[in-house]
Amino acid sequence: MYTAHIPLNFQKITTFTKSLYKLCKGGYNYSISNDEVVEVIPDFARCFFYFVFIFEGDEKMTSVPKLFGCAVFNETVMKDRLPTATYKAFKNALLKGEPLDLPIANIIANAMKDWALEKGATHFTHWFQPMTGITAEKHESFITPTADGRVIMDFSGKELVQGEPDASSFPSGGLRATFEARGYTAWDPTSYAFIKDGCLCIPTAFCSYTGDVLDKKTPLLRSMCCVDRAARRILKLFGENSEKVTTTVGPEQEYFLVDKDMFDKRRDLRFTGRTLLGAMPPKGQELDDHYFGMIKPRVMAFMKELDEELWKLGVLAKTEHNEVAPAQHELAPIFTSTNVATDHNQLTMELMQKIARKHNLVCLLHEKPFDGVNGSGKHNNWSLGTVEGENLLDPGDEPYKNRRFLVFLAAVIKAVDEYQDLLRISVASAGNDHRLGANEAPPAIVSMFLGTELTNVLKAIEEGAEYKPESEGELKLSGEVLPALKKDNTDRNRTSPFAFTGNKFEFRMVGSAQSIAGPNVILNTIVAEELDQFADKLEKAADLDAAVLKLVKKTVAAHKRIIFNGDGYTDAWVEEAKSRGLLNLKSTPEALPYLVKDKNIKLFVKHGIFTEAEIRSRLEISLEGYSKAIRIEALTMLDMLFKDVLPAASAYGADLTNAVLSKKQLGISGCFEEELASKVSTLASLLYTGAEKLKVDLAEVVKTSAQAEADYYHDVVLKDMGTLREAADELEKLMGGKYLPYPTYGELLFGVN
Ligand code: ADP
Ligand code: MG
Repeated sequence: MYTAHIPLNFQKITTFTKSLYKLCKGGYNYSISNDEVVEVIPDFARCFFYFVFIFEGDEKMTSVPKLFGCAVFNETVMKDRLPTATYKAFKNALLKGEPLDLPIANIIANAMKDWALEKGATHFTHWFQPMTGITAEKHESFITPTADGRVIMDFSGKELVQGEPDASSFPSGGLRATFEARGYTAWDPTSYAFIKDGCLCIPTAFCSYTGDVLDKKTPLLRSMCCVDRAARRILKLFGENSEKVTTTVGPEQEYFLVDKDMFDKRRDLRFTGRTLLGAMPPKGQELDDHYFGMIKPRVMAFMKELDEELWKLGVLAKTEHNEVAPAQHELAPIFTSTNVATDHNQLTMELMQKIARKHNLVCLLHEKPFDGVNGSGKHNNWSLGTVEGENLLDPGDEPYKNRRFLVFLAAVIKAVDEYQDLLRISVASAGNDHRLGANEAPPAIVSMFLGTELTNVLKAIEEGAEYKPESEGELKLSGEVLPALKKDNTDRNRTSPFAFTGNKFEFRMVGSAQSIAGPNVILNTIVAEELDQFADKLEKAADLDAAVLKLVKKTVAAHKRIIFNGDGYTDAWVEEAKSRGLLNLKSTPEALPYLVKDKNIKLFVKHGIFTEAEIRSRLEISLEGYSKAIRIEALTMLDMLFKDVLPAASAYGADLTNAVLSKKQLGISGCFEEELASKVSTLASLLYTGAEKLKVDLAEVVKTSAQAEADYYHDVVLKDMGTLREAADELEKLMGGKYLPYPTYGELLFGVN
């Protein structure tokens, strides 16, 4: 189906054309909105339609604003379709965070259904985000039987507000037994419903029969409420009565695209999303020629379709470019409220994978699909803003005089220092472990980059000295031809895990495959905690200005160890961070136990984000997830070795040996095959014994606790896999091309045109 937006003058469609549509489609819909008629016509009719009506200009270009959000039950649609009183009641409930009355929900549900049916939807689903990190949906059709044996399309307020999926197979971390299957989903009215694949998707939160939280959305919404409350306390001190403060996020999503035919030939990519074996080709990313390079036509076609589909869903897809590694790309949306940004990022990841397939490509979201070139992250740009439109992390032109900004900045500094462990945990996964600490991504040590200006402002406050701003920066490129450029007050620091970038913080440790809900729950909660502490103090102060300065001074003195503006990739920083007492939690099993430290449990419980049982269940889920991921990788590696690599080595070895024998028989001198056969045989034998060891080690996994199991996978299984990989990659370099059992790195990384 295709939705054509036809300028109003075409409303005078001739009877002939109308009948033609009816003929093509067996009936057609059109509704008039503002200056256009929206026609829903099937694809084959579309061709004829364009043949009959030749539009002026580039229809595609002008239609983007109309395309945008056309599959979303958004503000405009609500205003159009809901009675004014209902719309107002809905908005009011949203602002106050109050539940909706059932009669109101009934009216909204009915309007949603009518709208969805007009768009061709037949089903609805409560779309939720269980602890798998991806989304879940169970489709229900709108059909309801009537007494006379027909069906009508129905959708009630109750169905909109609450669902009850049988949800026993989602990870619960021991919060319930498998036989306790009941789970509930509850409508999240802060994120618009949308239509995807003919199904009306209603964003929902998910909990168990006993009310335990089983998803990623619930804690996120709770943390947003906390930060709202705490931030408004601070604003009030400065005489500002904001209606609401929300945190905002713009997640920059990195990904790889590889050819699907090649992907299909590699068990590792199919089962684990990353290559477990593979030698580097002669060329990697060393020339930096892929970064921001010309986008190849096939990739461009993919990006174009992706943009259009995202726009339909109201996702603000904005920036696209090639990334550092060959075959690596990035998409950045314009920021929005954290909750919506999280939903949109899930949709983005889903659509990237779906649309790639249509172009015979596969989108790899794994954090480290290839050894030897950069992995993929998701830069979580985070800030706080009022509904009235003010960014609370905007320092303005004179940060040293901007007391309100200094309070918010100090709160973030204190939060990041006191809860380094939680931030590290929020990005901990088997996949991301390959990335953090490698010379490409931020280190596993959490620190903050503030840039020269802010660092100097804080230093002056700490020392009680007067701050003298440096003169405004201008960059002169060429006196005559090019205009002077205005310099930003902070440069970028690509090596910092948590960098201030002008009016927001960029948390760079997040992994490309992860849901951004987790990291943002932590950011919101820890900042809310510090803002609350600050508000407790400042609310009692007689002289606010003096109290703010005192507070900032004290905070900087106590927490400046977390500020580091230098190169985070160096060994010197690792040493320095150690001497500053900063944590360096190198792996997921090492980081995760910090989740249940007393201070962290206290934090979550105090702010009503999680109960202690929920926190412990999350630790369990993460540890289990880690162990399972490594186990699948180890089994896949064995599969590749026995089914692909060893048989290939054997065949090559046999051919080499036969060549040696023939040459010797004929007395031909010079026999490189002999040495090569011996090398191949030695490496293959090493692989065989290594693989046998891995099998034994996998049979002996320590299972005394989830922690012990994860430690074992990290200390024993990953190590075995590392040794095996070394030998396999060495062997691959020796293999003749025709013996290679699957596409190499060279083919995968440079194979898409
Ligand atoms: P940079 O290139 O300096 O990182 P951009 O303006 O390109 O900055 O922004 C990168 C990402 O940060 C984008 O997704 C953008 O929408 C997002 N962003 C910008 N301002 C904010 C903000 N106030 N809150 C959250 N994200 C933001
Ligand atoms: Mg950026």
